Amino acid sequence: MNKSRNYILVVLIITSLLLAAPIRVLYRVDMRQDKLRTLDRGSGTYFSTVDLARILACRYYVNPERQKIVLYIANHRVKISAKSSFIIIDDQVLQMPMFTKVIGEDVYVPAEAFFSIIKRTVIPGLTYNSKRQMLDIDIVNFNIIGLAIEDKANGTIIRLQTKDQFKDGNISSFIHDNGWFYLTVVGGIADSSVIVRADYGKAVRRILVDQLDESVQLAFQLRPKIENQEVYLNRDPAEIVITLRTPVIDSMARLKSLRERWYLDTVVLDAGHGGKDGGAIGRYGTKEKDITLDIVKRVGLLLEKNTNIRVIYTREEDVFIPIAKRPKIANAANGKLFVSIHTNATSNRKIRGFETYLLRPGKTADAIEVATRENAVIKLEEQENNYFELSDEALIMATMAQSAFMKESELLAATIQSELAKRLKSPDRGVKQAGFYVLIGASMPNVLVETGFLSNAQEEKMLKKPSYRQKIAQSIYQAIVAFKNSREMVLAEE
Ligand SMILES: [Zn+2]
Repeated sequence: MNKSRNYILVVLIITSLLLAAPIRVLYRVDMRQDKLRTLDRGSGTYFSTVDLARILACRYYVNPERQKIVLYIANHRVKISAKSSFIIIDDQVLQMPMFTKVIGEDVYVPAEAFFSIIKRTVIPGLTYNSKRQMLDIDIVNFNIIGLAIEDKANGTIIRLQTKDQFKDGNISSFIHDNGWFYLTVVGGIADSSVIVRADYGKAVRRILVDQLDESVQLAFQLRPKIENQEVYLNRDPAEIVITLRTPVIDSMARLKSLRERWYLDTVVLDAGHGGKDGGAIGRYGTKEKDITLDIVKRVGLLLEKNTNIRVIYTREEDVFIPIAKRPKIANAANGKLFVSIHTNATSNRKIRGFETYLLRPGKTADAIEVATRENAVIKLEEQENNYFELSDEALIMATMAQSAFMKESELLAATIQSELAKRLKSPDRGVKQAGFYVLIGASMPNVLVETGFLSNAQEEKMLKKPSYRQKIAQSIYQAIVAFKNSREMVLAEE
């Protein structure tokens, strides 16, 4: 009897020493009230975590051996250790200015510091007033509940998972010069711990969540420079989707792609005419289609033997190839150069010489005549190929599509002319321009070489000689090699 009375007395004394006035708890939802047991240690108010678990109705787990308590609050794991100033929320380590205390199996934590951390990380709707020892719980329903960031080749997609769909007018965003992207959502309550823990990918360096009363601002610090941004609201699933576009690819990748695009690894050789289209015919019956095929094969052989350039032929036999198909073959092969080889003809049988053409509206009557003759083949083609009228206007459009290659085409044409001039005694008629269907649509530098006039008896005789055709082939080959070297020198300078 005596013993137990003494025991009760001791407990009462200890309790009165340890326990201070409890923290009053107010639930905003139903104005219900409760109490949190506390300790008063001079250095501030400490409260029972076991009580907190009860009040928040959250699952908790106590490890008495290791003197740890883990609370599962709103999908977060809050780990509190005895006699430690650290609390671990999910994987985030946070520090309080004071150490926790242990009473039996319960851990008491400094109220002000703890609630401030919890408010910031787990329950924004929690407000602790240290003067009044009052805990106000407005259990918040987060409406921004997830984040996924995807890196794309030309930008980044940020998806904010939301509980319900927000209204367009409630969202504003901008990119600051300092490299931050700001998104403000009126009425948004962000589960910041989920957002901060997300996988940022390559483009996002840091995310800050600033929860205000009326809105939330999410700030994304970005690595790449952003060209523009777009925000739209997805209904199902409910998401705020942010598209941030970056200049296509980073500079290293850009340089690599530039090199690949420039690197002259494939040349397309086009032997003019073929099959039912014989092209020009000489006085002695020499057919253009045979001369062009022979020269093309000689150029190809030189390239294959002496360089690592891949050679693509639009035809390797005496077959008819529709004119529009030739640049298509070149594009499909990812060609870096297109050389169409022809022989010339005109009513004036005295005229001889070699000339190289660029695709542009014809400037002179001569040039237009050549183009008209070379284009005449389309009359032999079946209906399936629809050719637009090659008016100046249409040609300007076609030329513009090739403007990226025009400078290079000019260089190649000039080099072919000078190489031919080195080896042939025929007159150098220079670089000219006219509208050739065969050059339209080739996505690479392209030229058309008129190697000589079959209408001139002397030149026809020369063109019939394999040695003369070899000279022509050698010249075109040398021009291609010189073109390749000059282009790759530009690359080396980058
Ligand atoms: Zn021709």
